[in-house]
Parts: sequence; structure tokens; C-alpha cells
Amino acid sequence: SNDVLGQTQGGDLRLAGLTKRYGSFTAVDNLSLTIPQGSFFALLGASGCGKTTTLRMISGLEDPTMGQIFLGEKEVTDLKPYRRPVNTVFQNYALFPHLDIFENVAFGLRRRGVKDVKTSVTDMLDLVELGHLAKRKPTQLSGGQQQRIALARALINQPQVLLLDEPLGALDLKLRRQMQIELKRIQTEVGLTFVHVTHDQEEAMTMADTIAVMNHGRIEQLGSPAELYENPQTTFVANFLGQSNLIPAVVEDESDGVLTVSAHGQSLKLDTKRCRSTTGKVILGVRPEKVQVAKTADEVPAGFNSLTGGTVVDTSFIGVSTQYLIKLASGEELSVFEQNTGKEIQRPGAEVVVYWDPSQGFGLDGTQDIEAG
Ligand code: ATP
Repeated sequence: SNDVLGQTQGGDLRLAGLTKRYGSFTAVDNLSLTIPQGSFFALLGASGCGKTTTLRMISGLEDPTMGQIFLGEKEVTDLKPYRRPVNTVFQNYALFPHLDIFENVAFGLRRRGVKDVKTSVTDMLDLVELGHLAKRKPTQLSGGQQQRIALARALINQPQVLLLDEPLGALDLKLRRQMQIELKRIQTEVGLTFVHVTHDQEEAMTMADTIAVMNHGRIEQLGSPAELYENPQTTFVANFLGQSNLIPAVVEDESDGVLTVSAHGQSLKLDTKRCRSTTGKVILGVRPEKVQVAKTADEVPAGFNSLTGGTVVDTSFIGVSTQYLIKLASGEELSVFEQNTGKEIQRPGAEVVVYWDPSQGFGLDGTQDIEAG
């Protein structure tokens, strides 16, 4: 649906072998990817991974060193920025301070010589739920309101793709949460392709249908938030989206869909379907909230993985859960997040056993370095 914008949509956004070099430094490295029309897509990565450069190539502010950009069937690689059906919303809203809110939103239409702007501007202000502020100046608005006006001002140009470059970065946490939900609502309502750049994994997971995790100018993994979280394919992704315990291990045996590995002198199981590698060295991953703490091995349910000989190093009670840091005999540390359900809380110094359901673990290629994320 695209009632609000009343326009036809342009098809998928496709990047083919997109590369940007600055001298000998490769900021974006042979990026190929299709962003389906109407999707909310996030480019997620740490500072310097090439997200903004990618966005700037899509908008035409930066020329690719190599590669092509398509919107539907049409190649836009060499079009000037203003010739592309693409608009960008930046972190610093860049509203015109001397114009009131109505005129800020009307700006793009007036520049194109549109005479009757009232209906369109009113519709846009309604979409972002700020019609009552039409007569105010930007400085009389809160940060979140200014960001919504910036959005309305971009959407009124009827782009086929809206690019959002850390648009919520300047807002405080509470407002950011509200705006995440708000942006998602607006995207659903207008049905446009949104490409959102952020370094905040929670923000990407809250809003996007699909996330591309970028690292060193490349896509490390692409998928829905749940796919990335449940089945990370690299240690970087495992650590960048949430936390993971990553335990180097060696394969002992594989049979009937179960991989047996050895780590810390103990045998652990993995579901082979959740393993990227089933021979030689593997890295066993398990999320902290999948791991539990017991005082003795007798409390561990049959068939569960367990590691004995742990000592609680830190206990943090944070309301819904208790978070433990546990040191194994080998010196390695594990994180455990336990829901608070009235179970006895273990204090620092306590000797414990950690355990988890084998189906909750995932196996990564053990020849890679463990990247912090
Ligand atoms: P951030 O979140 O900090 O904006 P980013 O992931 O968006 O990071 P980019 O801005 O795309 O990263 O930059 C990618 C890399 O390219 C960085 O290492 C940066 O220093 C480098 N870079 C960007 N622009 C230029 C330029 N004009 N000349 C040289 N190097 C550049």
C-alpha cells in the first residue's frame, strides 16, 4: 500500500559488486545484495565498517570505485543525486531554522514548482502525527519531533527508497525507543523501502525485517533478526548481536545428527543441523540466557550439556534476571542470564555446575579467530 504517497514503486534495490576505495584502503568491498521493495532493511556494523559509505553511494553522494546500483530494472549508478528517487534522513535533522514546520515539509514541493501544497503537507504532518505544530519553528520542537519533521520532509518528495543514516543517534534512550516504534509504523504505512544505517544492534533488531551485518566493508551475514540471533555464522556476528559464550572445542564423534565435542576435558553435544562445521576444530556457542547454574551435577537434567568446576565470580541481580560471570577451571569465563523465578541465587565464590540443553547451542568453524563484535 502506498496511499499516503500516492505513487508507484520502483522495484528492488540491487547492489552489484559495489566497491569504494580511498587510495589503497577499501571501505566497501565488492558488496552484492538485493533489498526487496517495501522492506525495512538495516545495515548494521561497528564504526568504520563502511555503512555510511554504502548509503552515500546509493544516494549518489559518493561515486563507487566499481560496481553498479539498480532500482528495479533501472541502473542508477551514474545518476546525479537529485535525479535518483532516493532521499536521506540524517542524524542532524538539518531543518531550515527560519521556516516554520509547514514550510519545512513543503520545501521539496515548492522547489519543484508545485503550487497547491496544502493537502500533501497536511497528509504528511498527519502521518508523523504533528499537524498541530505546523506553525512552530524547528527550535520550538523536541529532538524527536524534529526528527519526525525531517522524515516528513523527505517522504513528501515521494522517493522510492528512504535512506536513514543513524537517524535516532542524537536522541536519548527513551525517545529513541519511542521513535523506533514510530518509524516502524510509518514504514508499514507508506510501504516504501527503508534502508537504515545503525551501529546499535537492538535498534536494528527492533525495526528491520532484514539485517546485513557489516564488518571490514563486507557483509558478514544477512538475515532476519531471529535468524541472525539463533544461527550466527561467525564469531563476529555471535558477539555483535547480543552476547555469546564461545567455547573452543574439538570434534570427537558424529552420529544420528548429534555432534560430540570435547572442551575443558569434558564431552559436550551439539545438534549437527546448527553446526557450520562438523570436523576438526569447532567453536561451540551458547547464549547466556540458555545456560543455567546448579550447585551440584545431580540437579542437571539427563541429556543436558554440563561443565563442572565453575566458580561464581560475579552475581548481578537486575530484576527480571540474575546475571552471573562464572570462571571455569581452565580460567575461561562464561556468562549466564537466569530468569528470576525464585530459584536460589548463587553468590560470588560459590562452586557451581553450568548446564544447557544441547539443542540450544550452535557450532561455528573452529579455525576462525574469536572476534569481539
Ligand atoms: P560510522 O558509524 O563511524 O559512520 P561507517 O561504518 O559508516 O562508520 P564509513 O563512514 O562508511 O563507516 O567509513 C568506512 C571507512 O572508510 C572508515 O575507515 C573511514 O575512515 C573511511 N573513509 C570514509 N570516507 C573517507 C574519505 N573521504 N577518505 C578516506 N577514507 C574514508
